[in-house]
Amino acid sequence: MSDKIRVRFAPSPTGGLHLGGVRTALFNYLFARQNGGDFILRVEDTDQTRFVEGAEEYILDCLNWCGITPDEGPHAGGEFGPYRQSERKALYREYAEQLVEQGNAYYAFDTPEELDQKREEIPNFQYGHTHRNNLRNSIFLPVNEVQQLLKDGVPHVIRIKVPVDENIGFNDLIRGRVNFETSTIDDKVLLKADGMPTYHLAVVVDDYLMQITHAFRGEEWLPSAPVHLLLWEYLGWKTAMPQWAHLPLILKPDGHGKLSKRDGDSLGFPVYAMNWTDPKNGDLTKGFRELGFLPEAFVNLLAMLGWNNGTDQEIFSLEELVQQFSIDRISKAGAQFDFEKAKWYNHEWIKQSSAANLEPQVIPVLRQHNIFAENYPQLKKIIDLVKDRCTLLTDFYEHSAYFFQKPTTETIDWPSIQPKWNQAKTDFFRAFIQKSQEIETWETVVIETTFKGLVQEKGIKIGEVMLPFRIILVGGKFGPAVFDIAEVLGKQEIAERIEAALAFLGR
Ligand code: GLU
Repeated sequence: MSDKIRVRFAPSPTGGLHLGGVRTALFNYLFARQNGGDFILRVEDTDQTRFVEGAEEYILDCLNWCGITPDEGPHAGGEFGPYRQSERKALYREYAEQLVEQGNAYYAFDTPEELDQKREEIPNFQYGHTHRNNLRNSIFLPVNEVQQLLKDGVPHVIRIKVPVDENIGFNDLIRGRVNFETSTIDDKVLLKADGMPTYHLAVVVDDYLMQITHAFRGEEWLPSAPVHLLLWEYLGWKTAMPQWAHLPLILKPDGHGKLSKRDGDSLGFPVYAMNWTDPKNGDLTKGFRELGFLPEAFVNLLAMLGWNNGTDQEIFSLEELVQQFSIDRISKAGAQFDFEKAKWYNHEWIKQSSAANLEPQVIPVLRQHNIFAENYPQLKKIIDLVKDRCTLLTDFYEHSAYFFQKPTTETIDWPSIQPKWNQAKTDFFRAFIQKSQEIETWETVVIETTFKGLVQEKGIKIGEVMLPFRIILVGGKFGPAVFDIAEVLGKQEIAERIEAALAFLGR
């Protein structure tokens, strides 16, 4: 076994990446970084029937977006490649044959139709110790017949021969001792008729050859662990077996059952990290990124699904997580997913992010609404003014559109100002346009002092003109401090907006 910590994220490229998958990647990454180890991406694409075009690139994009880029993998390269199991096809057979020779596995020639028939005849049929002795396999058939079948190239699989009545187990880093009765386990296929290994064989062979020391994976893989344990033992590699940590399930918001890929649509929130378009039918499934999540927030909320640092702290950067992550603070119990809480994380992260960090993510949001803000000199200032109001990045449009687009007479909240409008107000705003032209340093405080000075001069109440000023500039009763808005808009622009309003009000 390697002295260096080596962990792997081993997704199957079958479609969009579930947030639970990203959490698995994250926990592996945190552990590797904390211990100066390597984080490997291995693409488990041996099931050709489930392979989906583009899914591998998508997974890599998701990891990059989250900032948890692999050190080794199909794109990064590395000494232990290839990192796609389909490209390693040839090497698995040797191990499967070794197991057959040792008597720990056997050839099975049963056709899919024959097996279907057995399933119909025998309730709860399992290919295992109770039935293997009279099925078409190398345990039951005479040796010469088996040889003939192999020689004739009759399609067959290789199955593990699971022992009867043995109690096997391992120490899970999260769950402690976990034991299994072998009698309940069926003889899983190791090598398929197409020569591809199944997940069970490939995961063990590759964890061994890639010198993986620790494996964080979802709890749903726990039932597969006994098969893997047997394989590690039969292949003679038991001392090199990685230490497993089975992460708690991510549950639906009501706590009932695992949050599945399908739940996102029905529950009204995303389950995938990023948008995913199914290449077969063009169906789009929305992701956290496109909905307006910051990667920092997404990583933070995932880390908190089953982990905490023992205090009330909830906001963690990736660097802090690397420092503070500890296996003994991962819970065994499933973690309920709460979308409102997820949005809270995003809001917190937007609030504390710098305008420079937000700017490249806000520009595309605005562009979707035909606002081309990339060369807008005041963009950072606008972001700082409105970010506290934005829960999602997409909210930046609603909260900043008026900086770029004049409010229109159709959208301005006239009912809030028109009934109380009078000549004194018109005179005030006309005079304010005049005065503002004379301001040399166009800054919030100066604008405010000028405005308030004029209020006094005209002998009107500040309350009478503050709200109209806001509504004239932004269209409604919203937005940050009105003199900050005026500063960003500039004297020419505010003059135009006031003139347009006065024209509408008929003064
Ligand atoms: N290929 C499996 C998956 O899709 C990997 C499970 C494991 O980590 O062993 O999640």
